[in-house]
Amino acid sequence: MFGIKEDLCSIPMPETYFGVDDYAKSTARWCPGCGGHSILSSVQKVCKDMQYPPEKTVFVSGIGCSSRFPHYMGTYGFHGLHGRALPVASGVKFRRPDLNVFVVTGDGDCCSIGAGHWIHAIRYNMKMVVLLFDNSIYGLTKKQTSPTSAMGTISNTHPKGSVLPPINPLQTTLGIANVSFVAQTTDWHPAHLYATIRKAADHPGLAFVRIVQRCPIFVKDLYADQASNPDALVMLSNEDGINLEGSAAKSINRVLEHDHTNLSLARERADISDGIPVGLFYQNTENPSYDDYGAHNLGMTVAEKAQGINELLDNYMS
Ligand code: SF4
Repeated sequence: MFGIKEDLCSIPMPETYFGVDDYAKSTARWCPGCGGHSILSSVQKVCKDMQYPPEKTVFVSGIGCSSRFPHYMGTYGFHGLHGRALPVASGVKFRRPDLNVFVVTGDGDCCSIGAGHWIHAIRYNMKMVVLLFDNSIYGLTKKQTSPTSAMGTISNTHPKGSVLPPINPLQTTLGIANVSFVAQTTDWHPAHLYATIRKAADHPGLAFVRIVQRCPIFVKDLYADQASNPDALVMLSNEDGINLEGSAAKSINRVLEHDHTNLSLARERADISDGIPVGLFYQNTENPSYDDYGAHNLGMTVAEKAQGINELLDNYMS
């Protein structure tokens, strides 16, 4: 046909390979210098390295600067309601266990209006990666005190400084029943940021990652010193944890041996205050996951459910 020899058509095509561009969509409209940009790059690189098919990958968000994230990914996305990213993501995962599910939420979105959902999503332990962009301020609505704002933070809601102690998202998550993965990283250390999200993607349950994020518009001094100080981060070290190599490893001066199977020790590390602790605080791959007890196909394993969905799709397409 069309002058092409028939036997040429039998040449096997290379398997589909996704490049970083396959996970990119519209230009990110965060402010210049916003930590969101480096997080976006790391997430796209993780998706590429995992070779997640874009049509099998979903980013769910709530409301806030960080929650613009799904618009910038060349995957499926759901930009939802304030604080409601986690229940939407749980529903997606319940119905489509074959999808790779990510949640993007901010400190206002997750730790305030979404706090009830936060507790139960951790307890459900469904397989997904939850990225908490924590810049300690409400950015989209222009500088209100958030649940993670340090005491004394000057904001539009507290012009004389916030008066209550902040939530520590690590401590809170580590205190919830059935917690199975808690890690922390920063937007300004791209190698550690990538390694953390990559580790989270491998976790069989809900992987909660707090990303300490800069907002140069509304809290420009917060983390300004730490971002250029190699002594500011305290890297939790374990051969099965989140590890760096070469120059990336040398860029963090302070290293602390840690056992991420020890929940009490993880809580101690989460209280470190003379630096920003980064790394894998806690992991338990044996915890039960609500994935296995979906309303549909009750009691089937995730693999069995995925198989059932594939058969449904095959029947639909034929
Ligand atoms: Fe980023 Fe802050 Fe700008 Fe929001 S206001 S996009 S958090 S720099």
